[in-house]
Amino acid sequence: MFTFDAHIDTLLQLVHSGRSLADASGHVSLEKLRKGGVSAQVFAVFVEPDFYQGMALHRALQMIDVFWQMIAEYPDDLAFADSGTAIRKSYQAGKIACMLALEGGEALQGSLANLRNLHRLGVRVLTLTWNYRNALANGQSEGDASGGLSPFGREVIAEMNRLGMLVDVSHLNEPGFWDVLEISGDPVIASHSCARSLRDHGRNLTDRQIKALADKGGVIGVNFYPGFLTAGESAALEDVLDHIEYLINVGGSDCVGLGSDYDGINAVPDGLQDCSMMPTIAAGLESRGHSLTVIEKIMGGNFLRIAESVLG
Ligand SMILES: [Zn+2]
Repeated sequence: MFTFDAHIDTLLQLVHSGRSLADASGHVSLEKLRKGGVSAQVFAVFVEPDFYQGMALHRALQMIDVFWQMIAEYPDDLAFADSGTAIRKSYQAGKIACMLALEGGEALQGSLANLRNLHRLGVRVLTLTWNYRNALANGQSEGDASGGLSPFGREVIAEMNRLGMLVDVSHLNEPGFWDVLEISGDPVIASHSCARSLRDHGRNLTDRQIKALADKGGVIGVNFYPGFLTAGESAALEDVLDHIEYLINVGGSDCVGLGSDYDGINAVPDGLQDCSMMPTIAAGLESRGHSLTVIEKIMGGNFLRIAESVLG
């Protein structure tokens, strides 16, 4: 089944440890991606706060180089994808479509020229913030009183719409979310977020946010981090299925996808230890009575749809 994961942090692991995609010590490896039937994978370029002061773009470029080296290392298995068409082509060729996302607008260093250059290097998704304030907007840790998008953040959205890039609202605070929904001409994604009604956490979306994002044609990738799934000590596959079903109930089956956050989280749900377990989600949805049509949308069809409509 076509399977699309909208967010992993494997590039961070690769730059930290120098490990390759052949190494099976993390949540994601080439073998695990293959075993899990992952067809399209978004790789996040997450710039750690240590680099925010003047070094964010430098660090992002370093990670983008690691991404391109990885693509070159496995030409039979991986294919770079910058559009819905490229994802389909790579799927038909039996390769994993690999996309680049920038997680946090710090790396733009206040310049639209940097956004355009990052686009030229293959970046097609921008998560506007991480958890803190940057030149574009405020992350969810800053609270709602800190306000929404800055004038520069608004320029970035307009330029992303013009270039054909996916705006990602995961990590944003709520005023920023509403600003994005109001001004973006294209549907937007929340690449790795869950439902706030099931787990009251600032990283999760309220029912109103889910409905509004869905009404605009957007897609939400359910995050597998136990702390976003439940208030308890641990989580299981069933909790991921609960969030998927909740999002379907609130926003409809066209707004739900997967955004595992693998290799960026220090705990995983029981039954979803790594990306080789992706098919258990489809099986779980089937056992809960969902139709094949709905399951295909959740597993990847919805993200493919929005990639085609926004990226071409
Ligand atoms: Zn994140």
